[in-house]
Amino acid sequence: MTPPRAEILSQGDELLTGQIADTNAAWLSERLTELGFSVTRHTAVGDELDALAAVLHEIAARAELCVCTGGLGPTVDDLTAEAAARAFARPLKEDPEALRQIRAWFAGRTYPMPEANRKQALLPDGSRRLDNLRGTAPGFAVDHGGCRFFFLPGVPHEMEFMFEHAVRADIQSSFPARPAQRVTLRVLGVGESTLQQRLDLITLPPGIKLGFRTVPPENHVKLLFPASFPVPERDFLIEEIRRAIGPAVFSIDTPEQPGGALIECVDRLMRHRDADLATLETVSRGHLAQLCGAFSWWTYGLVIPDGRPAVEHLGLSPGNGLSDGPPDAAAIATHLRRREGTSHALACMESPRNPSELVIAVAAADGTVTVRRRLDGNSAYRRALSAALALDFLRRALATPAA
Ligand code: ATP
Repeated sequence: MTPPRAEILSQGDELLTGQIADTNAAWLSERLTELGFSVTRHTAVGDELDALAAVLHEIAARAELCVCTGGLGPTVDDLTAEAAARAFARPLKEDPEALRQIRAWFAGRTYPMPEANRKQALLPDGSRRLDNLRGTAPGFAVDHGGCRFFFLPGVPHEMEFMFEHAVRADIQSSFPARPAQRVTLRVLGVGESTLQQRLDLITLPPGIKLGFRTVPPENHVKLLFPASFPVPERDFLIEEIRRAIGPAVFSIDTPEQPGGALIECVDRLMRHRDADLATLETVSRGHLAQLCGAFSWWTYGLVIPDGRPAVEHLGLSPGNGLSDGPPDAAAIATHLRRREGTSHALACMESPRNPSELVIAVAAADGTVTVRRRLDGNSAYRRALSAALALDFLRRALATPAA
């Protein structure tokens, strides 16, 4: 079955002048692809009535579905409803319920409705209103020339809410598309080019789309399987890919089961092992504490600017595991675990000899392990990267059963 074609139309001068990036199109594309559409085109048009009407006309002849965002506001540059009225020969008509909702929105904020907002209640004749529960601009849906058009507000959170509550169910009941199976392998510490090299060794059957995405500090490998692709074969292939990449894969999201974020993987392992954790961090500047903060297994956290105050804070001395040299992550983690009485302790610090080197130590009942990693990038990136690498090292230690 050929997937139905969908297009996305974004409206606004801000998009063309580069003042904002078209995140709505990216977000919608991902949803529509998941719903089984083939997204064939993204178009951005400025605040120009003729151009907008012309594009709507063209799309009606090319696609089965079109989602448009933006231009539903109260100002003169918000032209979408007028353009749709012109393109589809459906004159604008005031929708009394839309007007009531806009008035109610302002009344709820003890603010009289400015007359300009009345314009937002004008919808193309015969269109279906889509209520906006997050803002003033109602959306609308209209069929023209074999294409269903949805017009949604530009503000991303309003658009996303309207899509989830008014559009998704309509699409699912009206189109024969079957959702593709999206699988995401989340990876830490392996760059895109290395990932590509490792995956070059695997031949993917036809019809599977492979993509890469960087979500700093992680890299994601995305696979899109046709809806009809058998799940056992799919899982066999995913396992092959996981093995080719190696232990840097910390999570796999499938349509049946989300693998989740790194901290969620650590949380599962901590609970499974009935473990608890004390942390000490320098280079991650509290990022580690922030990530662990929501979990009851995290019982102690210390954030210090560099390793030297650890000696004082933790009462370390050469006699209890610290050498005479600069503070050492392994000794600190070992001491911290003993002092706090936790099953695990994690130290995440710059190397005292080389500030571009991160040293992570995990102390557990069966001993203390240490790893060194290179730290690149600006301070915000180093903070996020070091916290993620520390959590990942803990994840690996927890996943490896004690000998
Ligand atoms: P409202 O009445 O709430 O203003 P609207 O439909 O008129 O809704 P626009 O005026 O086009 O929306 O855009 C409002 C804001 O939403 C923009 O200033 C921008 O910050 C954001 N926005 C609009 N379009 C996009 C887009 N395609 N991607 C990301 N953000 C967008």
